[in-house]
Amino acid sequence: MNSLNLIQKLSENQSLSLEEYKFLIDDMNDESIAFAQSLGVEKRKEIYSNSVFIRGLIEISNICKNDCFYCGIRCSNRLADRYRLTKEDILSCCEKGYSLGFRTFVMQGGEDPHFTDEVVCDIVSSIKAKYPDVAVTLSLGERSFESYKKLYESGADRYLLRHETADSEHYSKLHPENLTLENRLECLSNLRKIGFQVGCGFMVGSPYQTSLHIAKDLKFIESFKPDMCGIGPFIPHKDTPFRDFPSGSAKLTCFLLSLVRLIHPPVLLPATTALGTSESQGREKGILAGANVVMPNLSPENTRAKYELYNNKLSTGAESANGLSSLKRTLSAIGYEITVGRGDVKK
Ligand code: SAM
Repeated sequence: MNSLNLIQKLSENQSLSLEEYKFLIDDMNDESIAFAQSLGVEKRKEIYSNSVFIRGLIEISNICKNDCFYCGIRCSNRLADRYRLTKEDILSCCEKGYSLGFRTFVMQGGEDPHFTDEVVCDIVSSIKAKYPDVAVTLSLGERSFESYKKLYESGADRYLLRHETADSEHYSKLHPENLTLENRLECLSNLRKIGFQVGCGFMVGSPYQTSLHIAKDLKFIESFKPDMCGIGPFIPHKDTPFRDFPSGSAKLTCFLLSLVRLIHPPVLLPATTALGTSESQGREKGILAGANVVMPNLSPENTRAKYELYNNKLSTGAESANGLSSLKRTLSAIGYEITVGRGDVKK
């Protein structure tokens, strides 16, 4: 096997075997990274030209009933300073975001029992009534089919639910027993059935992850063909059981962004905050590897630091919605341009 031949084959067929993906990961080197990047960027340009889509991220609550071992807002972390935004807070984030040019709002949060279907549907329908030209993305974790259906009927367009890892044994090393890969995948399938544009994804370098696990993630992405895919490095949080594990590699994250672009060329691929946090100019490197979405933070200034999934999470400067003009400058310096609009996936 030869990595360059495999990358060429992937670009032509959008598919490789599990062993071939594993080989590509184990053999990652400067030449294979550059080749995957050039083919990935070419594919993205054919579909999206040099446009980068922006999403205004609103972190609506850091209260969570789950206890994922990697996450700083897990329910067992007694040191987390908890908060929850009100409907008015969220609408004022949207007002600010709309005037800055955002046409997608992403409401993300822990699995906070306060956000019942009734509460979320009321917020979504109010946003859509006020701003009919925006898309609303939700990222509120696992819910029932009926619940997702109500959210969709209230006007939500997209749903982000990372699968976290496509290997059930690895899944059980990252989560307590009550959370299973089977249920996570069932949720993703339900979201798709209902009509959402659906996003999956995983952390790079999460504890106990092997190259075979990542190969399985790529195989899953190949079959699921997500509309969006969130891939960012794992970064430890000091008040979690994974505090002593190292951060995931930004280089491998960028290589995987290029491969995912080749696997499913129309995918909306964010250069994540975790990538921006893990390395200087991480976000630009993500865009140059094949990503085409950035998600600046629109949350109120006084809650941003509290949504601490991992330590040193970026939330200021070009990472914040206020820094939009500096983001425009940085992107234009590398040949890209922010597009105002909903930025739906091209089918
Ligand atoms: N509760 C929702 C869910 O489970 O999908 C949305 C919020 S959850 C905090 C969003 C994502 O953050 C997770 O899917 C996970 O991949 C990522 N995340 C959590 N802890 C992280 C860490 N320590 N490093 C990097 N990413 C992390």
